[in-house]
Amino acid sequence: MKNREVVVIGSGIGGAGVAALLAKDGAKPIVFERNNFVGGKAGSIEHEGCLFDVGVHISARGEKGPLAQLARKVGADVSFINKSPLLRLNYSGRDGLIYQKMTHPVSLYNIYRIVRPSIKSLLGMLRLAMLVYSVKTKEDAAPYYHIPAKSIIDKYMSDPDMQTFLDICCNLMFGISTDEASAGDWLLAFNNWITSGATAYPKGGYGAIPNAYMKACEDAGGELHLNEKVNRIIVENGTVKGVESDKGFYPADIVISNAGVVKTLDMTGEQHFPGSYVEKARNAIDSVGGVMVKYILDAPFAEIPMSLYTPRRFNVPDLIKGMEQGRMPDDMALFIVSPTATEPGLAPEGLHLLYGGTVTPARFDKDLSNAVMDRVENRLEKLHPGLKEHIVWKERSGVDVIAAISGRVHGDAIGMAQRYDQDGDKRFSPKTPLKGLYIVGADTGSFGIGTELAAQSAMETHALILEDTAGVHRAT
Ligand SMILES: Cc1cc2nc3c(=O)[nH]c(=O)nc-3n(C[C@H](O)[C@H](O)[C@H](O)COP(=O)(O)OP(=O)(O)OC[C@H]3O[C@@H](n4cnc5c(N)ncnc54)[C@H](O)[C@@H]3O)c2cc1C
Repeated sequence: MKNREVVVIGSGIGGAGVAALLAKDGAKPIVFERNNFVGGKAGSIEHEGCLFDVGVHISARGEKGPLAQLARKVGADVSFINKSPLLRLNYSGRDGLIYQKMTHPVSLYNIYRIVRPSIKSLLGMLRLAMLVYSVKTKEDAAPYYHIPAKSIIDKYMSDPDMQTFLDICCNLMFGISTDEASAGDWLLAFNNWITSGATAYPKGGYGAIPNAYMKACEDAGGELHLNEKVNRIIVENGTVKGVESDKGFYPADIVISNAGVVKTLDMTGEQHFPGSYVEKARNAIDSVGGVMVKYILDAPFAEIPMSLYTPRRFNVPDLIKGMEQGRMPDDMALFIVSPTATEPGLAPEGLHLLYGGTVTPARFDKDLSNAVMDRVENRLEKLHPGLKEHIVWKERSGVDVIAAISGRVHGDAIGMAQRYDQDGDKRFSPKTPLKGLYIVGADTGSFGIGTELAAQSAMETHALILEDTAGVHRAT
């Protein structure tokens, strides 16, 4: 890779990850980042002496997943803090703790006690669990990629409360419901998640991961240009020639975009791509978005790393449809992360961080978004009475902020959705039809959850680039 001029557009998990991998091979990538911080949606920013995550994050597989695997490959200093009990589950007003090992008898008993599925659904649930356990690899998942997860679940059981619980878990993992999610991805991610017992929060905040990747890149000779937006990708005769940023032209024979498939098309000019590629990109569907409320508190309200609140038989597809038509639900599911419960070093002594978030459409009106945030705050207060009196500082953000931070068209939380009709062989490859142009990040990862999907994409993109450049060396 030594003689290659490599440009990476964006320093999200995908961009920073692939830049570190290529730098390790001897390339000296230049990474352009439009924000003044590294990490995109997985970045962290300092406020009031506390380190806040841009999103509301937890790593599904921590030390055993692709984020750590990538870090080990490039010698990046990333470590995870693994706490048990992991989750406070509240369904329909009943609550209890779930341990790291989902198969722990207390976890299983608590899920049963809290969700209360009917006795007659238990055999079907056991058979579904056996199917989940059998799907351990991408190859095992392949027959299920183009089937909605719900159709598999329906085959085994119809209990409405357990269906709701599984749908909420699906939304947590993929930002879409079981009626849309690919059964292959759902089975594989569920298997990896529950069997790893390694769900964790990174030491130093979520942004510590992309920052460590970027540091590994810079230590190996790469460059980071913060606050520098790439406006155009220059292509001649189907081959990449470089990029044009706010500050000038940079020649490159390899350009890797972390800006998502659609923004990459826009920056390049769709006339350079085959019509079928453009049509597929323009029609692709992203995950849902979300709103977030973040607090600095002067009392510890949540000692468990994460909590999940779900009203009885809560229906996410109906919620999203209703919100798109301007209707507000009375109540909604809530994902709560308490980063200082795991990593107290993120805030000065005596202060605690608590984030609450819920799903909304990725394109969402600002007033409605504010109304949802009010409901999130009210629900947080109901779950943690007295919390409002202990707020030292707070921040509220919606899909406009997610879009601005990631540079994507809308404020989707994950990226291009892992839907049954755009998964497996229908997913975008990191390799585009243009020579030297690649797309890295959640849009092109082959499997995994959120940041792990993006890290997976970084490793897959790296492998494809090595394959392509080795081909050129052999030919010359
Ligand atoms: C509220 C919320 C909660 C989430 N919860 C979780 C969770 O619990 N667990 C989990 O694993 N994942 C979670 N995710 C999803 C996860 O954050 C994303 O899937 C992942 O971070 C996407 O990474 P990426 O590499 O695709 O790029 P992004 O994070 O989208 O980063 C892209 C980067 O490219 C830069 N960029 C774009 N265009 C340009 C340009 N023209 N010039 C220069 N720079 C540019 C952007 O500024 C940005 O830094 C959550 C996301 C949100 C928003």
